[in-house]
Amino acid sequence: MKTFKNFIAGEWAAPATGEYFDNVNPADTTDIIGRFPLSGREDVERAVASAKRGFERWRKVPAPERGDVLRRVGDLMTQRKEEIADLMTREMGKPLKETRGDVQEGIDTAYYAASEGRRLFGHTVPSEMPNKWAMSFRRPIGVAGIITPFNFPLAIPTWKMFPALLCGNACVFKPAEDVPHTGTVFVEILLAAGLPPEVVQLVHGAGEGVGAPLVEHPEVSVISFTGSTETGRIVGETCGRLHKRVSLEMGGKNAMIVLEDGDIELALEGVLWGAFGTTGQRCTATSRLILHKKIHDRFLGELVDRTRALQLGDGRKKGTDVGPLVNEAALKKVERYIDVGQAEGADLLCGGQPPIGRKYSKGHFFEPTIFARVEAGSRLEQEEIFGPVLSVIRVSSADEAFEVNNDVRYGLSSSLYTRDVNLAFRAFNELDNGITYINAPTIGAEAHLPFGGVKQTGNGHREGGWEVYHFFSETKVGYADFSGRLQRAQIDNYLGTPD
Ligand code: NAD
Repeated sequence: MKTFKNFIAGEWAAPATGEYFDNVNPADTTDIIGRFPLSGREDVERAVASAKRGFERWRKVPAPERGDVLRRVGDLMTQRKEEIADLMTREMGKPLKETRGDVQEGIDTAYYAASEGRRLFGHTVPSEMPNKWAMSFRRPIGVAGIITPFNFPLAIPTWKMFPALLCGNACVFKPAEDVPHTGTVFVEILLAAGLPPEVVQLVHGAGEGVGAPLVEHPEVSVISFTGSTETGRIVGETCGRLHKRVSLEMGGKNAMIVLEDGDIELALEGVLWGAFGTTGQRCTATSRLILHKKIHDRFLGELVDRTRALQLGDGRKKGTDVGPLVNEAALKKVERYIDVGQAEGADLLCGGQPPIGRKYSKGHFFEPTIFARVEAGSRLEQEEIFGPVLSVIRVSSADEAFEVNNDVRYGLSSSLYTRDVNLAFRAFNELDNGITYINAPTIGAEAHLPFGGVKQTGNGHREGGWEVYHFFSETKVGYADFSGRLQRAQIDNYLGTPD
């Protein structure tokens, strides 16, 4: 079995702890991909010290040249797309068509970042005084700690690291324990594209062993975290105490609303993809379906038939629609929520158990599940399950649907199926989410638009698009007075108007 290493101080290195963990294929737990470092505080210390040196060098490289490195990264990811998709499916389970999309998102993000090297705009504005120049520009921050989840093993690290690097920061990257192979290949590609070795560090391991020391390290000036709201709270508290800049992208409980005038066929296709794609393990997964009472029964009948027809299996096999859950803990969590749903009196329409059959015996599979008659406010309706479980809520009006959508602690994504253009625009205004889709499911963000959520999904920052470049840079203002005399802001003025 292959033993993998960290990348610290410009070389592939064994962990100081001497400990390792197995990376297991969730579709077949007898398939071990390799042993990866279970690193500790000492590895983090070395990585941060090296990243500081890398930062001093990298910050001086002009931004367009930094962008050129990222363009080459995009080229290399394009060349290796199929190989990366396959190894990603092997370690986390989602079907190949989805992991190909994951790689493509990384490629799109690379090319966007490359061109941003020639923008990275500041402002030049008129000064209050003559012969004085006033402008703002952007500076790198320092060492960035990058902590990522398992469900988009390449796309999410690229959302963070490309803008961080383009802005001139160095990165210490801690991928999720379930996807260390994709993280390793990503760092190999960065290096192959010409990124100076100390600018990126890769430290594998657990949240407590590596994530926490990284967040606590005084020389790490900025933390970008994506993961659960529970972990995000710990990360946020630590960063608050240490006065660190922190971006938190966390959980979701996203709803699709289908009203009586919605295109039913389109909505059926949308909800199948939104609820069961990535086995429901997307922060943007459609985990609630809010149906108008006039179409409720008809819609559900058809949805249950189509859900039962989904092909569950190994994501690397042709024809698979839904792969396994990422690990045993995820499977157990879904099982607990089936009990919660039943105890709350919801109607289990399909699924609710692991599939039966030899081809499922070695993996963490769970049948796509639908609960109907779910009460607004119940645990099933409120809590993030992160699995293939859809809760259906029946409503009598658009107003009630909007209220149900908004009455959760999360606020990532929402979706409305209607042909009423006025209502569609009302939804943009009134649904409390970072993203609202009209006539499309709750998933499908594009790399060049800001991405993130409100309430307990996020802390106000956005990834993707142009906004993330503000997060990874400091705004500095420069005033140059070439009048040759003392000019006093707010006191002197050009026309000499009397006081
Ligand atoms: P998780 O919170 O368990 O882990 C995320 C990362 O944090 C992992 O790398 C983990 O090792 C690390 N970590 C754990 N404890 C830590 C600690 N004390 N200090 C620092 N780091 C620590 O999440 P997960 O199970 O990998 O991912 C699923 C969650 O991520 C879901 O809640 C999902 O909604 C969320 N998610 C959000 C977005 C978004 O953009 N909003 C995107 C994808 C996933």
